[in-house]
Amino acid sequence: MIKDEIKIYNSLTNHLEAFKPIKKDEVSMYVCGPTVYNHIHIGNARPVIFFDTVKRFLEYVGYKVTMVSNFTDIDDKIIKKALEEKTTEEQISEKYIEAFLDVCEKIGCQDDIIHPRVTQNIDAIIAFIDRLLKTSHAYQSGDDVYFDVRSIKNYGILSNQNIDSLESGARIEINSHKKDPLDFTLWKKTQDVGKKWDSPFGAGRPGWHTECVVMIKNIFGGKIDIHGGGNDIKFPHHENEIAQSMALYNDTIANYWIHNARIDLKGEKMSKSLGNVIWLKDIINTYKPQVYRFFVLSNHYRQTINYSEEFMEKAQIEWGKIVKTYYSLYRHLELENSLNGGSVLPIMDDFLKEMAYDFNTANAISVLYNLQKKINVDLRDKNISNSSLQNDLKTYQDMLSILGLKVAIKPLLPSEITLVKKWQEARQAKNFVEADLLRQKITDAGIIL
Ligand SMILES: [Zn+2]
Repeated sequence: MIKDEIKIYNSLTNHLEAFKPIKKDEVSMYVCGPTVYNHIHIGNARPVIFFDTVKRFLEYVGYKVTMVSNFTDIDDKIIKKALEEKTTEEQISEKYIEAFLDVCEKIGCQDDIIHPRVTQNIDAIIAFIDRLLKTSHAYQSGDDVYFDVRSIKNYGILSNQNIDSLESGARIEINSHKKDPLDFTLWKKTQDVGKKWDSPFGAGRPGWHTECVVMIKNIFGGKIDIHGGGNDIKFPHHENEIAQSMALYNDTIANYWIHNARIDLKGEKMSKSLGNVIWLKDIINTYKPQVYRFFVLSNHYRQTINYSEEFMEKAQIEWGKIVKTYYSLYRHLELENSLNGGSVLPIMDDFLKEMAYDFNTANAISVLYNLQKKINVDLRDKNISNSSLQNDLKTYQDMLSILGLKVAIKPLLPSEITLVKKWQEARQAKNFVEADLLRQKITDAGIIL
C-alpha cells in the first residue's frame, strides 16, 4: 500500500527517510504561518500551496491529517503599521488574516486547517517562559528574558552545526545583555504604545520563537509527525523552537522537518523590506490562481524557483492544455453517459509513487502530462471503450484534486444532447449535408464525438 511506502527528506537528519507516523493512520502536521501585518507575496505562498498538497496527498492515500498553521498577530511590524494607519493592532491583524484566508481559498487550499493566534495563547506562553527560567534555560538581563543556548547540549542540531561555527557564520547584533550572541529573546519588557501583557517578568510581549512550541504542545499534546516551513525560517526560528523543546521536553518537536526552498526574483531574494516583491493577490489577478499553483507545483519543493514572467506564461499554456483535455474528455463522457450510461474505476499508481517519494510534485505533473497525452489519443480512437475513458477521467480528476487544482466545468445542456441525437438521426437517414452542419455545431460546443 502506497501509504506505507512514503519517503520524506527530513531536514533534521538530512536524509530521505521512510515515513512512520506516531499514530497509525493519523498524521499531525504544523506549518509556521504568517505575521499578519501585510499581504503575502508569491514566495510566502509557496509553503501554503506545498503543504496543502502534502495534506491532500496524505489524505488521499488514507491518513487522517490534522494540520495547524499559526497567525503571528502580535509583532513590532503590526504595531508600526497600526500607528501608520492610525488604527488598532487588532484591526491590522484582522484585515490581513482575512486577506490571507481569501487568497488561500482562491489558490485552492482546503479550509479545515486550524489557525491558532498568539494573542489567544499568551497565558500558556508566559507559563512556558516561566518554566524555562525556573529550569535555568532562560535568564533575565536588562529588561528582557533570553533563552540560554548553551544550557542545552545540542543547539545547532537542525542547522547541522555546532554553536561556535553558527556564531562565526551568523550576522550577529551586538547586545551587551546577552550571555551568548545566539541567545534569543523570549520576553520583551516594554513601555511603548503597543499591546502588552502583565507577566512575572514585567509588562511586555513574547518574542517570536516561543509561540509555535507552545501551540504545538497545547493542540497536539506532545511530539508531532511533521513540522514544516520555508527554508528561510530554518535558522534561527526552527532551531530556536527545537532548543526550547529540548530544554523542557527533551524532544525535537517533530519527527520529520520539511523545508521548502525560496522563490527568487531575477536571481535575488524577495523581501518586503527590500521592496522587490510580487504580491500573491496581484499575480492571481493577472493569471488565474490555478496557474500560479500549477507553476509552484511544477517545481520540486526543495528547488529554488527563479520567478519570471516567461515561466508564468509557459505555466499558463501548459495549464490551459490540461484544462482543455479535461474539458474534452469530461464532455465526451458526459454525453456518452447521458446517452448510454457508464461506470468508473481509478488507476493512478505512477502518480502516487512520485508523490510518495518526498512529495515530488514536479514528477507527478509529468505523469499527469502522460495521462493527458493518452487521453487526447484515446478521445480520437473510435474503438476505445467508454469504461476505459471513465477510468481516464477519474484518474485525471484525482490527480488534479491531490494537486489542489480545480477545473470549473459547465454541465452539458439538454439542447446540446438534443443536437447530438439529431446528428445521429441525420446520419442514419444518410442526410449528410444536415449531419455535417450539426457536427460543426457540436464541435464548436467543445464536444468530441
Ligand atoms: Zn514557528
